[in-house]
Amino acid sequence: MNIFDLTIIGGGASGLMASLSASDHGSKVLILEKNNRVGKKILVTGNGRCNYTNVLLKKDDFNRPDFVENIFNQFGPAETIDYFENLGILPKVEDEGKTYPLSEQASTFLDIFLYEIEKRNISVELEQEVTKIAKNNGHFVLTTKDGKKYYTKKLILSTGGKSMSLTGSDGSGYELAHVLGHKTTEVFPALVKLRLDSPHLKHLSGVKINSRVDLLLGEEIMQSETGDILFANYGISGPTILELSRKANELMNKNKKPCIRIILIQSVSKAKIIERFNQFKDKEISQSLVGLINKRFISVLLKESGIDKSNILVKDINKSQLFKLIDLLYDWRIQVVGSLGFEDSQVTAGGIDLSLIDNLTLESKIHNGLYFTGEVLDIDGRCGGYNLQWAWSSGYVAGKYASLSDRND
Ligand SMILES: Cc1cc2nc3c(=O)[nH]c(=O)nc-3n(C[C@H](O)[C@H](O)[C@H](O)COP(=O)(O)OP(=O)(O)OC[C@H]3O[C@@H](n4cnc5c(N)ncnc54)[C@H](O)[C@@H]3O)c2cc1C
Repeated sequence: MNIFDLTIIGGGASGLMASLSASDHGSKVLILEKNNRVGKKILVTGNGRCNYTNVLLKKDDFNRPDFVENIFNQFGPAETIDYFENLGILPKVEDEGKTYPLSEQASTFLDIFLYEIEKRNISVELEQEVTKIAKNNGHFVLTTKDGKKYYTKKLILSTGGKSMSLTGSDGSGYELAHVLGHKTTEVFPALVKLRLDSPHLKHLSGVKINSRVDLLLGEEIMQSETGDILFANYGISGPTILELSRKANELMNKNKKPCIRIILIQSVSKAKIIERFNQFKDKEISQSLVGLINKRFISVLLKESGIDKSNILVKDINKSQLFKLIDLLYDWRIQVVGSLGFEDSQVTAGGIDLSLIDNLTLESKIHNGLYFTGEVLDIDGRCGGYNLQWAWSSGYVAGKYASLSDRND
């Protein structure tokens, strides 16, 4: 029986990083990957450019700030940039700290990983989906879908979350962890487009604006973001919406009914808008709005404020309707009814419960020699390089400790 020193299940971002780190720290490593190639998801990150870290990263950009802080203190964005630079990848820092490879190609990461894997003699077995893990005489026994068995002293579970399952991450890691006694928190899609309940979506589909958008529950602002918003026939997307989506899904999971509030006009006071309507009182209402908001919103806002004729003169509109229209420019609410789900999401919120994971080494508190990395854990971050940074950091740390420690059950 051939017992490996260290096996990593999952050759995604965090598993690949763990393999290099473990090899840096002296381990002989085996990666088991269910796909016919490693790193499939890396290729689609950052619209093919791979936003691999964020130089402005703060612990509060994550759902579990104190937990991630311990890991980032050991291997954060600066160490990551240095690490990849040593392997040949130069960084290109863009707006809001988002960092890409200078080549602007996500495939650069894969090229580098494949090169390093070969150079370091890391073994990779493709099309090996692990379906069962058991503990036997101090080592782990891994069984694959086609019945093959692997024996290993140390094990790193790097199977990812449930987002975009065609890249391989289908949530199977949660089941594997359950069997070993670990629990998962509720998992749901985050960084995902939202479905809205509005009769105007078809008309607005394709409209892009830059604006503030709040997530409201009743009158309470749950989260506020400013940036690009894109309307689509199902609802709404864009960086601001992706950021709000985690909270929106969390609320909907609790049977709450959040809505989004779009603030179409930010830089002009209400008094100024009232003045404008006075100035244009002899104009048709639709004409009076031209130059103030995107033209596609005009008929929508008129309908929402109960003004059925777009050619009615401003001076002939009943006051309450006109004030409703003015209010809508600053406070337009649309109910959120869902999201596009795991398949469309960039990250999975929730995952393996952190209370049974050591926050310095990422080792299981139940089984010595078992480690976790990346999205399979109950960690998710904002959009902008944060989730890959978590993958690199957790991969590095787990790979290191799995190689340093020689404890066994
Ligand atoms: C479209 C898209 C764009 C994104 N863009 C960015 C970005 O620009 N910046 C950023 O920071 N983050 C981005 N992310 C998020 C980021 O890619 C993930 O957070 C990160 O890849 C997670 O790494 P991981 O190693 O935990 O999981 P994954 O990268 O998902 O890897 C898991 C691996 O495990 C394998 N696996 C699963 N189960 C088994 C099993 N039972 N047996 C064997 N193998 C198994 C899978 O096939 C897969 O290869 C993006 C995500 C998506 C979907």
